[in-house]
Order: sequence, then C-alpha cells, then structure tokens
Amino acid sequence: MAEKIKNIAYKFGISYMQEGKRFTSVCLFCASEAGNFYLTPEHKKYKNVYNCIKC
Ligand SMILES: [Zn+2]
Repeated sequence: MAEKIKNIAYKFGISYMQEGKRFTSVCLFCASEAGNFYLTPEHKKYKNVYNCIKC
C-alpha cells in the first residue's frame, strides 16, 4: 500500500528521485523544478501524499 503514490506517478510518466523517505519530481501543477514537489509514500502520519512548496 505504501507504494501506491509511486505507482500513480509511474502511470503518469513522472520520473522522480529518492530523497530519504520522500521522492522529488517536477511539479505536475506549476512545473517548478525537482526539489519543490515531493511525493511521500509513507512518513509518520502521512501516507500517499504530495506537496509542492511553490503552489
Ligand atoms: Zn507546484
């Protein structure tokens, strides 16, 4: 189950880089470079979430 968001990213053809427990990629919404947009499969209370610090 923890792999869900990565599978979704794969389906959309998003390439992402691992950064600890998170994965960073180009933002789908504002297209800002990797390092601003994160996918988190599972970390503490977060599960299968994404976050972009630019938008
Ligand atoms: Zn964004």
